[in-house]
Amino acid sequence: MARSVLVTGGNRGIGLAIARELAAAGDAVAVTYRSGEPPEGLFGVRCDVTSMADVEAAFDKVEAEQGPVEVLVSNAGITKDTLLAMMKEETFTDVVDANLTGAYRVTKRAIRPMMRLKRGRIILISSVIGLLGQAGQANYAASKAGLIGFARSLAREYGSRGITVNVVSPGFVATDMTAELDTEAIVKNIPLGRQATPAEVARVVRFLASDDASYITGAVIPVDGGLGMGH
Ligand code: NDP
Repeated sequence: MARSVLVTGGNRGIGLAIARELAAAGDAVAVTYRSGEPPEGLFGVRCDVTSMADVEAAFDKVEAEQGPVEVLVSNAGITKDTLLAMMKEETFTDVVDANLTGAYRVTKRAIRPMMRLKRGRIILISSVIGLLGQAGQANYAASKAGLIGFARSLAREYGSRGITVNVVSPGFVATDMTAELDTEAIVKNIPLGRQATPAEVARVVRFLASDDASYITGAVIPVDGGLGMGH
């Protein structure tokens, strides 16, 4: 039977590539979206991960459609870049609320059904910036570094229940999020000398969600062309 998968922020960018990759591998894939239409061919649930009520309702719908979520990909994320001297408190807390507390909300809702199933895969999308840091992104870096401690704690809490929890750390990926950035300047620091495609991140997520990754938990897997190596 197809596994039930949920990808947050799966309506575009990296999340959509992950959703398509897992669907092509034979999983039943649901995605969250906030506005507009869900992507063609995927089960869409409207959900803002900053709202626990939205998250609860989304999981209820996904469970009714395709059964308890066995693979959760927490991908939804935002940036609100500015230097600390200019950063208002809500510019910090908004980013942490979406990127880190959002991951808490979805994993919190997913964990009990996974415990009942006695298996589960939780994959959190962090960023190379979480460990490297980046001027103008203290809020984003803090949220993405936080995901690592969060994931490793859950790996310890739920390993004995057959649930793995891993982090994927992309580098510089061509999506809406990076569309405004100076590609040439960033690419200079990337050993592979180019941006990643969303599909290159998605294939690593597919591996972590597969049986081939059965003995990997608490890992942080870089998909960054070497940008963050050494960290
Ligand atoms: P995009 O900006 O293209 O897409 C972001 C996705 O997250 C959208 O689907 C968006 O939904 C969703 N989202 C944002 N906030 C919320 C929220 N509060 N509730 C629900 N959904 C939300 O970004 P990317 O695809 O580039 O990024 C995906 C993930 O990968 C993010 O976590 C990002 O931090 C991370 N990442 C990206 C890198 C890159 O270079 N692009 C590098 C490293 C990490 P909507 O369409 O409704 O806005």
